[in-house]
Amino acid sequence: MDRILEVDGDNRLMVVQPGVTNQAVQQAAAKAGFFWAPDPTSSAVCTVGGNLACNSAGPRAVKYGTPRENTLGLRAVTGDGREFRTGVFTTKGVVGYDLTRLLIGSEGTLGIITEAVLRLTPLPQAKRTLQALYQDMESAAAAVSRIMAQPVTPCALEFIDGKAIAMIRSYSEADLPEDAGALLMIEVDGSSACLAEAAAAVTEAARGKGCLEVQEASTPAEVERLWKTRKALSPALRKIAPKKINEDVVVPVSKMPELIGGLGALGERHEITIVNFGHAGNGNIHVNLLVDPDDRAAMKRAEQCLSEVFDLVLSLRGTLSGEHGIGLDKLPFVDRELDEVSLELMGGIKARFDPAGILNPGKKIPFQRV
Ligand SMILES: Cc1cc2nc3c(=O)[nH]c(=O)nc-3n(C[C@H](O)[C@H](O)[C@H](O)COP(=O)(O)OP(=O)(O)OC[C@H]3O[C@@H](n4cnc5c(N)ncnc54)[C@H](O)[C@@H]3O)c2cc1C
Repeated sequence: MDRILEVDGDNRLMVVQPGVTNQAVQQAAAKAGFFWAPDPTSSAVCTVGGNLACNSAGPRAVKYGTPRENTLGLRAVTGDGREFRTGVFTTKGVVGYDLTRLLIGSEGTLGIITEAVLRLTPLPQAKRTLQALYQDMESAAAAVSRIMAQPVTPCALEFIDGKAIAMIRSYSEADLPEDAGALLMIEVDGSSACLAEAAAAVTEAARGKGCLEVQEASTPAEVERLWKTRKALSPALRKIAPKKINEDVVVPVSKMPELIGGLGALGERHEITIVNFGHAGNGNIHVNLLVDPDDRAAMKRAEQCLSEVFDLVLSLRGTLSGEHGIGLDKLPFVDRELDEVSLELMGGIKARFDPAGILNPGKKIPFQRV
């Protein structure tokens, strides 16, 4: 089930089967002058079915949203074998409950998606890439708030913290000044006529207390050079720690300085190295606890630290996961975020869609408790 059934530029939509890769969708859409906004880094290998089931997205989400904002309708099969259609082929529609958004992000626990109507967006004419360096993460987090408070929404606003920069320095040839304690990668897109003004507005917001420099790429080679540091991060992380506990918490953008400060304090208290990076424009932070799985005392401290990380996130009006979902690892923490009534309602929904509980069994939210 990996076919693209229809590309309809006039109505800005595409009908696909769930086994098609995200990359194949982008290639087919681009031929017609469009793109599908969700852009997980795994794009070359991940499928639209997986993207929808996990509501997966990447850097572009800050401006263009996730699958929930970019899917018009679905075809699916319930756990007891009933086929149904959700949503519309139009950009407006209010008939009935929104089962499309309900299925998206349900991690395959409510139905098997067999077809999707994807909402397409015209490709921007041009893009500008900026890199901003800060003396510390607090200054960078404050800059993110300033950038998000002005009218130009970047199409990427990524950050890495000081510990991540130090790690990259030890494992690759990072071209960064010694005093850089945090980095923002910023991209703006749009029509060629307006782009210089948009880049200038974002640059002004990026500058401020603690900003060391803002560089703008003027050639494709420079774009690649500026992204090199960010791209060196994942290989460096894999080398440095035998095990990393990688969470993907989200807080309101204005709460990022508080979260980053709190994570620093938790890391010190539990003697765990915590490296942070992520999608700053969404407040979506990949919190990496670096631990040696053979060190039992360290693993125990990491577990306690993680539990307190989640409490901190929730105290800041955040959510436990912005991308990875609940899966198996986060099941024990779900009832810290969802109240008893919500859990009970969700239990009822699950029972209607999948009475025998055969869809991704074991990944079910712990409704039984209520
Ligand atoms: C290197 C790497 C980078 C990544 N980067 C990102 C990122 O930037 N952003 C992000 O959000 N995620 C990222 N991920 C996570 C993952 O790639 C995404 O969540 C992706 O969308 C999963 O798609 P998949 O095809 O791999 O799904 P699978 O792993 O096959 O399935 C994921 C879940 O979806 C369910 N599912 C799959 N198809 C259907 C269907 N047709 N109907 C119902 N349920 C279904 C499965 O049952 C399973 O529970 C990354 C993963 C890797 C390995």
